[in-house]
Amino acid sequence: MKKLIAANWKMNKTVDDAISTIKELKVLLKDHQEADVLICPPYTSLMAAGSEMKGSIIKLGAQNMHHEESGAFTGEISALMLKNASCEYVLIGHSERREFFNEDNEFLNKKMHAALKHGLKPILCIGETLDQRQKNETEDVLETQLLACLRDVTEIEKVTIAYEPVWAISRGNTNTKPATKNDAEAAHLFIREILKGIYDEAKAKKVRILYGGSMKPENAKELLEMPNINGGLVGNASLSAKSFFEIIKSAR
Ligand code: PEP
Repeated sequence: MKKLIAANWKMNKTVDDAISTIKELKVLLKDHQEADVLICPPYTSLMAAGSEMKGSIIKLGAQNMHHEESGAFTGEISALMLKNASCEYVLIGHSERREFFNEDNEFLNKKMHAALKHGLKPILCIGETLDQRQKNETEDVLETQLLACLRDVTEIEKVTIAYEPVWAISRGNTNTKPATKNDAEAAHLFIREILKGIYDEAKAKKVRILYGGSMKPENAKELLEMPNINGGLVGNASLSAKSFFEIIKSAR
């Protein structure tokens, strides 16, 4: 399965910054096809980023969306609007959305359905907090998140899962440690087992499960070599075209 290396730029980069990073990445990526590449810039850069990516292997995604198509939801953006702005992917349930904007599994399930209805490929983010890991609740948390967020979702072939242990997400702190490759692999294998239970073995095998949390050029290769790690969701290290490119090159 071809790996997917996705950039989550969070609330970073003006339109000009976004364009210059994409221009630089396009030059670096010339002659490179080892992975599928995705960038999720802030909403303000979506249109300009989409035009800059045209003709390259880089795909466009958004960081969030509302489940309604339109209406009185000040400050929100719908799946219909994202599709119309040329997005192919959308992140659903990033831990920062869950923590700072109180998004729960039931609400995220509505977003999953709305994204699929409008032809977007959702990347469902799941993961345990440090407290939950220390209490040995990781598997329970992952199972609960998957069952609730995927409730009545049939088009699993269009869904990507991102395992992002909350304690490993850098939030800009470059000293944060990622999960070890063995802990990450164990979580990915567990996620695939749950998917097998919800769908079937053949479908579960084809779902890309990305790892996210302090992935950087120094550790990407060992994580991406694990059998159930099918790509990466990269925050801080995706802000520089050079370091993001180094991660992409590790995904052979
Ligand atoms: C993220 O927040 O999705 C993420 C993976 O961030 P970082 O790579 O900075 O840990």
